[in-house]
Amino acid sequence: MATIPSIATPAEQQDAFVWPAATIAGEPVTNGAQNGVHHAMPVFNASTGATIGWQEQADAALVDKAVRTAHAALASWRATTPVARGKLLKKIAELIESDRVRLSAMQMQVSGKPPAEADIDVCDAAATFNYYADLCLNEKTFAPESLALPDDSVTGERFYESVGVAALIVPWNFPMVTTAWKIAPALAAGCTVVLKPSEITSPVEHMIAAIINEAGVPDGVVNLVNGGGEVGALLTAHPLVDKISFTGSTASGKKVMQTAAQDMKRVTLELGGKSALIVRADADVEHAVTLAVSGAFTNAGQMCSATARILVHDDVYRKFMAAFETAVRAIVVGPPQASNVAMGPLVCAAQRARVQSLVDQGVAAGASIAFSGSLDRACADGFFMAPVVIAEPPADNLLWTDEVFGPVACVKSFRSDDEAIALANDTRYGLVATVVTADREAARRYKTQLRAGLVWINTPQLIFPQICWGGLGLSGIGRELGLAGLRSYQELRHALADVG
Ligand code: NAD
Repeated sequence: MATIPSIATPAEQQDAFVWPAATIAGEPVTNGAQNGVHHAMPVFNASTGATIGWQEQADAALVDKAVRTAHAALASWRATTPVARGKLLKKIAELIESDRVRLSAMQMQVSGKPPAEADIDVCDAAATFNYYADLCLNEKTFAPESLALPDDSVTGERFYESVGVAALIVPWNFPMVTTAWKIAPALAAGCTVVLKPSEITSPVEHMIAAIINEAGVPDGVVNLVNGGGEVGALLTAHPLVDKISFTGSTASGKKVMQTAAQDMKRVTLELGGKSALIVRADADVEHAVTLAVSGAFTNAGQMCSATARILVHDDVYRKFMAAFETAVRAIVVGPPQASNVAMGPLVCAAQRARVQSLVDQGVAAGASIAFSGSLDRACADGFFMAPVVIAEPPADNLLWTDEVFGPVACVKSFRSDDEAIALANDTRYGLVATVVTADREAARRYKTQLRAGLVWINTPQLIFPQICWGGLGLSGIGRELGLAGLRSYQELRHALADVG
């Protein structure tokens, strides 16, 4: 993404809210003005384009202080009982639920999410803290497991221990959700953390950090540093960081993995996608259109899981396209407070310019726009873009091959299941897939043959904390959520004993 101007003069900041560069041991830490210049970035209201405040940038010294604080807090946090940690996680979930309206409002402001989408994010975050609380309160989760061995003279045991200090790096598209997916299992496991939110949507994480503090999590266990990729790079390179959980683009994920290799830091990488939605000839076309609209245009298409490659069987192609066009033209794009709004703006001007540029390049290379939605006057000032549908792009067109991360969907026809599976799998990503079919046998085949971390059959993009999230290939390494999400913040260890 293009860089947002990173330096504001003090005059520009007058009367504006300034979020601190870091929160360390529960205390906000400002970076102050250096040589009369305050290092901060504007935070925008995505629906109006107005600057709602400024986010200070941490420097190397603050990143170091945050990591050292997390390191100092590790021994005592690791020694707390899982039950004690579970009770704190429950408290965090309760506080998120009771602050639901304010948290949703902040998401609507910085991301422009429609109310229902903002509210789903808050509920998801609370559900994630509740889920990991319950795992902590279940004594089996942390109990050592004895092993059956072929030699009776020794006993064997498997046990898990927190990995240490975790660096958590989050993008801007689902800030609260992604943060919860990382902080909840990390705290459950007994890790201390340094979180780096996206510089574009950090106010949401400031609210979550305040809630964690209010819940009574001991000082130093959760710390926050703010800034862009440079701050993330400083954090991932810090020698006292033991584990990195990164969500973002595949390009940044590669850099994170290279940095992690220096110290053999443990990594979980949740990266990009280019996922398929397949509509078989036996599908309920109306339902398929509903799933296509939500799969491609929820969060204005800014989803790693966007099913932006839509494959439709020849027999129902015309019917599908006619109904899809009606549905896309009916999408109300607008600010969260507009009535019936179904799609909000893109997160910032740079993201909109990036998506528009990809559409222009794709069209110049031979893709054609079949139809698009529209914007009304309420969209004049924010970072809005109408939904776009491309029909039958060439196989090597970038709109078909590359992640766009905006409201752009491509549709292609197919004639057989073999062809649909081959087209869906013809990507180096492998995050999710959706299949719409009335045939159970066909569904079973797609489930096993589609290369994706999660396959939805006839359902919208349901996500539960019990279901692991993560992709194959360039979509990343490791899994979040579920028991595997907890284990990713633990080291698996064994002991063998001859106790006579
Ligand atoms: P990005 O990679 O530019 O940034 C993500 C985060 O990483 C930000 O906080 C950024 O400041 C930080 N960062 C950037 N470079 C870094 C570096 N070298 N070292 C450490 N940190 C660095 O991605 P983005 O534009 O914010 O988000 C969009 C991308 O995220 C898309 O590719 C999307 O598919 C992906 N994503 C994946 C998932 C998933 O679960 N698989 C979920 C959401 C988003």
